[in-house]
Amino acid sequence: MKEIYLDNNATTKVDEAVFEEMRPYFCELYGNPSSMHFFGGQVQGKVVEARNRVAALLGASPEEIIFTACGTESDNAAIRSALEVFPDRRHVITSRVEHPAVLTQCRNLSQKGYRVSEIGVDGEGRLNMDEYKAAVDTDTAVVSLMWANNETGVIFPVEEAAAIAKAKGALFHTDAVQAVGKIPIDMAHSDVDMLSISGHKLHAPKGIGVLYVRRGTPYRPFLVGGHQEKSRRAGTENTAAIIALGKACELAAQQMSFENTQVRAMRDRLQSALMEAIPHARINGGLADRLPNTLSIAFEFVEGESILMLLSELGVCASSGSACTSGSLEPSHVLRAMGVPFTCAHGSVRFSLSRYTTDAEIDRVVREMPPIIDRLRQMSPFGREYLKAKV
Ligand code: PLP
Repeated sequence: MKEIYLDNNATTKVDEAVFEEMRPYFCELYGNPSSMHFFGGQVQGKVVEARNRVAALLGASPEEIIFTACGTESDNAAIRSALEVFPDRRHVITSRVEHPAVLTQCRNLSQKGYRVSEIGVDGEGRLNMDEYKAAVDTDTAVVSLMWANNETGVIFPVEEAAAIAKAKGALFHTDAVQAVGKIPIDMAHSDVDMLSISGHKLHAPKGIGVLYVRRGTPYRPFLVGGHQEKSRRAGTENTAAIIALGKACELAAQQMSFENTQVRAMRDRLQSALMEAIPHARINGGLADRLPNTLSIAFEFVEGESILMLLSELGVCASSGSACTSGSLEPSHVLRAMGVPFTCAHGSVRFSLSRYTTDAEIDRVVREMPPIIDRLRQMSPFGREYLKAKV
């Protein structure tokens, strides 16, 4: 069965051009970039090129790019570094809707005696800026707020938030794992100090990430040992994946306008067709500024997991929340933080598109969804009540 893959916020297909770029660096050009000989030097040259390509996508300088193993490592390293840089500051700010890569670390910090403020969001998933402004003080070591939410696609006003943190002398980190490659990012005109990327969200392989650290920002490494990455991240580089990420960033820059026109148009068409065809549905974060590829939609009187199973039988891949929390029937922490009613949070499905999504695939999902929801509502006691009321 050929899949219709609408789960690109969980992971993406490796672009074939990206794969071709990395292929020689396993069996042929396998040298260690730190080696003195020509064989390592060839690889070193490609790592330099990759660093330049990543920097170009971010409007950054190459020396501000540190390669890591994943988005999670970048998030952990950024927050941990800020606390080491400011040992006298004991306050950390984040939001209630962060990815667990940030939220779990912050909650662990509160167990270690740090004061942790988790800023709330409104019903559309927008950051409560008044609460945030009131929380930042001169005891704040670091603020970590995501650029865009993985479940709803809602975009936070990161630049404004970074300026507020800067005014109090706190470092500002953003988890931009879902934003990079989908919306323009320009570190050259920004108050953001640190930013995380994950390769597998933008058509590079899994297991490669980046931590951007602004020039002049004090930084303490998470992994110590060898002198790789100018001693900021020890460990022999994952050269093939670094080279792949460089290519993926180059392609992302070229595809950015496609993402914001064609991909957005397909997402909008999916959204309006489902809203029209299926009663008692609601867009999570529908009134907020959102990523062009993401649609989180709640169907009352059904369970998201059941929808996903029936979709999966038809070859359609979607998600009921973040990949990391699916498998549990608890409504997602993001939808709970938004105050989405329990009956809606349970019936939420996330469709996340990519530049590989086609109009024909959207048509198919638009056709398949109404009978699936109808069938599930017939099966659920609440749904039957609803259907009875309808006639
Ligand atoms: N941050 C966000 C917003 C994510 O969506 C993810 C992955 O789902 C991560 C961090 C973690 O990235 P990685 O899988 O590379 O560790």
